[in-house]
Amino acid sequence: MLLAVPCALALMATPTAAWSADQPKPTTTAKTTAADKAKSAAKVAPVDCAKVKCIALTFDDGPGKYADKLLDTLKKYKSKATFLLEGQYVKSRPAFAKRMAVEGHDLGNHSYTHPHLRELDEAKIREELTKTQDLVKQVTGKAPTMIRPPYGELDDRVKAIAAEMNMPIMLWNGGSRDWATKNEKAIYDEVLKNAKRDGVILMHDWVAQTVTVMPKLLTALQKQGYHIVAVSSLRGAKELKAGDIYPVGSEKDDGLTSDTPLDGAESAESPADGL
Ligand SMILES: [Zn+2]
Repeated sequence: MLLAVPCALALMATPTAAWSADQPKPTTTAKTTAADKAKSAAKVAPVDCAKVKCIALTFDDGPGKYADKLLDTLKKYKSKATFLLEGQYVKSRPAFAKRMAVEGHDLGNHSYTHPHLRELDEAKIREELTKTQDLVKQVTGKAPTMIRPPYGELDDRVKAIAAEMNMPIMLWNGGSRDWATKNEKAIYDEVLKNAKRDGVILMHDWVAQTVTVMPKLLTALQKQGYHIVAVSSLRGAKELKAGDIYPVGSEKDDGLTSDTPLDGAESAESPADGL
């Protein structure tokens, strides 16, 4: 009988403790959310890249399967990014695409199935781009504001269609080789090597090591004085017109295509199999 009392107390205490741990009280949650919102509003103050050192990290072929974790990190480090989306993955991971838009990152059109656009006829190029444009708008409520052709490959027809669709063409001027090395230190070193003011760095949110090394990389860039911004905030990117190519002169850099994955690499790594 003496033992029964503590046992009964213990039994009563256990479910209460479990409830507290697993289910935060609704009032606490509401307060945290309000505070978070206030913080988000405060940090939305635009960065003026004419006055401070900026860099843009751009992620191709997504939404990749690690995009959610990447978005968490970007939020934690008060950083913005640019996502060049592939229609087929927007279709399979709509929640990630939506989150990118809601959290204020730039969205771009990276075709629907990642073909070599130069090998397609004009109708097919237009279809790859318009299908992605329409889907991103439908899923996120925001239309992509730029085109990045797969492999950075351009011709006059791609340029004309970009102009017709009222968007600039966004290339890059620094790679990360993340898809090739799949090594955190190598990715970190390559990005820091290529980092420069108003630089546009090419990365991939389907490479696990890119997403894993991101806190360390953002810390290093911020220590060097960089503000990590969406590409549209960079000096010179603000007034881009339809059909313009940015960064200036990047289309003449033949080395750029070596920064992109081999054919089909992203499809193998990022199958359109849903979340
Ligand atoms: Zn790509």
